[in-house]
Amino acid sequence: MSTANSRMVGCAACGATNRVPAGKTAAEGKCGRCGLALSGQEPAVLTPRNFAALAERSDIPLLVDFWAPWCGPCRQMAPAFSAAAAPLGPILRLAKLNTEDEPGLAQRYAIQSIPTLMILHKGREIARQSGAMPTTAIVAWAQKALSHRGVTSL
Ligand code: ZN
Repeated sequence: MSTANSRMVGCAACGATNRVPAGKTAAEGKCGRCGLALSGQEPAVLTPRNFAALAERSDIPLLVDFWAPWCGPCRQMAPAFSAAAAPLGPILRLAKLNTEDEPGLAQRYAIQSIPTLMILHKGREIARQSGAMPTTAIVAWAQKALSHRGVTSL
């Protein structure tokens, strides 16, 4: 349960869900189970093991890059996506989902083309956008999508 004084943040490394006190960013928090930082510089790698913690139980929205190794535009967009982590850090977390490795998770959200970016909050889709984008477009799109939901900062 989250309260006004804390929020839940999933751990990408072990799949635990941690309570982080208000006023602390996820980047300052460490996982109570495995001890690793809750938010790294690079997007987390989504797996069935950490999906629930990051995409369903976290209070922080998750921006997911659905991609595959054989997809040229996906590989081209990868550095732009990583670069979006810093400007978007205060409002959401970033993660990558390899649709070759995790076809079940891609099917669950009916991903029809890649790259597709999707913002998930509590397991629900807030926004999706297909096609490669530069960093500035990724940041602007995500900020707009969240502001429509009344989420401007966390
Ligand atoms: Zn952990």
